[in-house]
Amino acid sequence: MSTVLTWQTESSNLEATLKLASEVGSRIRGGETIVLQGDLGAGKTAFVQGLASGMGSSDRVRSPSFTISHQYSTDELTLHHFDFYRLEEPGILKEELEEVLKDDKAVVVVEWADIAAGILPSGRLTLQIQTTGDNHRRFRFEYPEKLKYLIPT
Ligand code: ADP
Ligand code: MG
Repeated sequence: MSTVLTWQTESSNLEATLKLASEVGSRIRGGETIVLQGDLGAGKTAFVQGLASGMGSSDRVRSPSFTISHQYSTDELTLHHFDFYRLEEPGILKEELEEVLKDDKAVVVVEWADIAAGILPSGRLTLQIQTTGDNHRRFRFEYPEKLKYLIPT
């Protein structure tokens, strides 16, 4: 079992979260898997929005709940955004997920990843978002050494 590193930060409004996510997005190289954890309304989808814009995508980010995954493209990479909220098993998304996980030009971001945990690589970034006030959020990043470059310190 490799060491898991952690980094924590806070945000006091949506814009700060978008900026944080955008900084992470600008560090993306391709091939990363990111799991977003947090209650409804924590800001997981907002984080994906910032991530996509930091990666250079101008595609509009919406919540993929109840739909198939969404993709956002940049010149070089594709961000695949999965949301397993209220799904009891990944179904058809499992194959799609397995496919994109092999692609080093793909970045895979998953909300409500529990039912897909067995498919995801262990070398992933997990971001826990905690609602600490109406507009206040606490972020805890957990990541292996090899993903250290993603952390905007
Ligand atoms: P989730 O995907 O986790 O269910 P969303 O990103 O869809 O959450 O929604 C987050 C909501 O919280 C948005 O309505 C957003 O405007 C609001 N919000 C308020 N403060 C923040 C903050 N600091 N960071 C992120 N979102 C915030
Ligand atoms: Mg969401």
